[in-house]
Amino acid sequence: MDGMSHTYIPAGMASFAGACQFTLKSSIDCVGVGLHSGRRVQMALHPAAPDHGVVFRRADLGHDHLIRARYDMVADTRLATVLGDPADPALRVSTVEHVMAALAGCGIDNALIEVDGPELPVLDGSAAHLVFLIDCAGIAAQDAPRRTIEILRSVRVTEGDAFAELSPAGPHEDGLELAMSIEFAAEAIGAQALSLHLTPASFRQELSRARTFALAEDIDRLRAAGMARGGSLDNAVVVDAARVLNPGGLRMHDEFVRHKLLDAVGDLALAGGRLCARFTAHRSGHALNNRLLRTLMADKSAWRAGVQMPVLVAA
Ligand SMILES: [Zn+2]
Repeated sequence: MDGMSHTYIPAGMASFAGACQFTLKSSIDCVGVGLHSGRRVQMALHPAAPDHGVVFRRADLGHDHLIRARYDMVADTRLATVLGDPADPALRVSTVEHVMAALAGCGIDNALIEVDGPELPVLDGSAAHLVFLIDCAGIAAQDAPRRTIEILRSVRVTEGDAFAELSPAGPHEDGLELAMSIEFAAEAIGAQALSLHLTPASFRQELSRARTFALAEDIDRLRAAGMARGGSLDNAVVVDAARVLNPGGLRMHDEFVRHKLLDAVGDLALAGGRLCARFTAHRSGHALNNRLLRTLMADKSAWRAGVQMPVLVAA
């Protein structure tokens, strides 16, 4: 196994422009297949009003089938982050993490996501196509203060040697500091770690292109269980021990830990406001990320909701 590769990307001058909320300038849509269902699905991203948050609409079920993208609506985290309405079992939207990551990574607070099936399209397995869609639609500043969640006290959840933790940001830190490490027996992955300050620039450059990945040994088992039907080398990195099976190889040598951070950005975007915090995790995935938010929110002494007043933002 290789030694641990560790990269630190310092907080740059690029920060979220202004402290106001943002939405899309116009609507945009795309068509793709669901990673697990293999179903063809159409997805549209629409602008939304200030304080709307991100809401999904299952267009195939009717106009009023809405589900809020929030941590307490997460119904399943085994293979993806699945939103579900406890009052309506049919109302589920699966694999929301990459869309949530793209929106949060681009600094968008408010959007309505319309989808005509139970699972979002996997596209190329990363957030790159989603960022492209958002850029095509454009990003609009809104005259409303940004909602923030400030961490006052560290909260940590564990499972075996895996953990996820949110702790207070330093006095001069703004937004979210992320640090993730992973460790896999497969030599092609090995031990990897990455830290970065989340900004639209760092998200685009460092995380957005990192694809989801799977071990070859797991794929037959997933297929037998009716999962990964839409999965292929076009939308996932597949690893067999020391080999990456994709003909084009990796996009970055540490694409795996970058994707785990991309997933964490999406999962943490379900907090209900922009986290002002340090996120530190080892081998964390959707289940731990969601348990972390639930544990945090249940402890009212560990966080404080706030607003940042809008400032003049260049058009
Ligand atoms: Zn993912």
